[in-house]
Amino acid sequence: MADKFSWITEGIEELKAHNLYSAVPTVTSPSGAVMTINDHEVINLCSNDYLGLANHEGLKRKAIAALEERGVGPGATRRGTGTSDIHVAFEKTIAEFKGAEAALGFQSGFMANLTVITSFMGKDDAIFSDELNHASIIDGCRLSGARNVRYKHNDMEDLRRVIGETQGYRRGMIVTDGVFSMDGDIAPLPDIVEIAEAHNLISMVDDAHGEGVLGRSGRGLVDHFDLIGRIDLEIGTMSKAFGVMGGYLAADKRLVEWVTQRGRGFTFSTGITPADAAASLGAVELLMESGELVEKLWSNTRYFQGALKDLGFNTGRTVTPITPVILGEEGLTHQFASELMTLGIGTLPIIYPVVAKGQSRLRVMLSAALSNELMNRGISAFEQVGRRLGVIG
Ligand SMILES: *Cc1c(COP(=O)(O)O)cnc(C)c1O
Repeated sequence: MADKFSWITEGIEELKAHNLYSAVPTVTSPSGAVMTINDHEVINLCSNDYLGLANHEGLKRKAIAALEERGVGPGATRRGTGTSDIHVAFEKTIAEFKGAEAALGFQSGFMANLTVITSFMGKDDAIFSDELNHASIIDGCRLSGARNVRYKHNDMEDLRRVIGETQGYRRGMIVTDGVFSMDGDIAPLPDIVEIAEAHNLISMVDDAHGEGVLGRSGRGLVDHFDLIGRIDLEIGTMSKAFGVMGGYLAADKRLVEWVTQRGRGFTFSTGITPADAAASLGAVELLMESGELVEKLWSNTRYFQGALKDLGFNTGRTVTPITPVILGEEGLTHQFASELMTLGIGTLPIIYPVVAKGQSRLRVMLSAALSNELMNRGISAFEQVGRRLGVIG
C-alpha cells in the first residue's frame, strides 16, 4: 500500500537539508541558572524564566499546598465546577497588579490570544496587526474570520495608511505584541493608543515578554509608558517571568464578562490546575512586595549585553533582556549554538521560518538567576566561538 505520509518523510528531509530542522531538547533538571539539557549541564541562557521563579521555593510550597488541598486537576471547565477560589484570588490579584478592573485566566498565553480575539472580532470586522506579531495573535486573527490587515513592524505611518485605506467594516481593532520576542524591541504604545482613540478602534496588547520585566516592579509595558486604563485588552502569560503556566486577559469588567460568556477557549476547555493557580498568585504577590528581582534582571542585562557589544557582536535593536546575536546564515547559527553547547552554554538558535531567511540568530535570554561568574563564563564562550567561526575579529 502506498505510504500516505511519504510527504512528511520528504518534508523532514528537506528541512534537514536546509538547516531548518530544530530538534526538541530534553531537560532533566528544574529550570534555573544551570540546567541539564540533553544530559549536558549548561548555563541557561535560553529560557524565559526571567526572574528565576520557575523553581522558587516559596512558590513550590504554595503549589504543593494547593495540590494537597484541592487535588491534581480542576475536574471541569471554568464555567462548570472548575473555578476554585484560588483561580478567583489569582485573577483579582493579577488585575490589581496590572491596574485593571478585572482579569480572566486561561490555560496559556496562546489560548488567551485565540479566545480573546475571537470573542471580540468576527467576519464583518477588521484587525490591524503588526507584521511581526506572535503566532498566537496571527492565528487568533485568522480564526476570528475578520479582515486581517497587516502593517509594517512598529511603523505608525504605515498603520495610519492601512487604517485610512480600509473601509466598510463594523468594528476595528489594533493588536500588537508589547515586546517582540525575536528582536527584543517594543511597540510604540503611546502612538498606538492615540491612533486607536482617534479612530475609535479597540486596542489590544500582548505583554508576554513585558510583564515581570518592564514597568514598576515588572507591571509591564502599559505601566512603563504610563498608559494604565487606556489599552482596552491586555493579554499576559504566567509562563515567562512569572515562572508558572497559564495566560490571562486584564481589562474592564464588562469586557472580561463578555469573554466568560463568548470565549470558546474559556467555555469549552478546562482551566489551569489549582496548583498552577496558587503558584501564579504567589508569583504576582512576590512582585507586588518587591522589585528586587526585576532590578537584578536589568543589571544582569546591562552587563551581558554590554560585554557582547564590546566584543563586536550584533545584538540588533533590543531594549529588553531578550538579546539576539544576529549571525545571518542558518548553518552558521546551528554550528555556533552547538559549539556553545559543547562549552556548557545553552542558547536558542532561531532560524527561518521564525525569522526571515538570512536573519538567523542565537537568542540569549538574561535572568535574575544568573551570577556574575556564570555570565562571565557565557561571555568568554561567545568570544571563543565567535573568533573561531570568524564572526568577530
Ligand atoms: C510566549 C508568548 C505567548 C504564548 O504564551 P504561552 O503562555 O507560552 O502560551 C503569547 N504571546 C507572546 C507575545 C509570547 O511571547
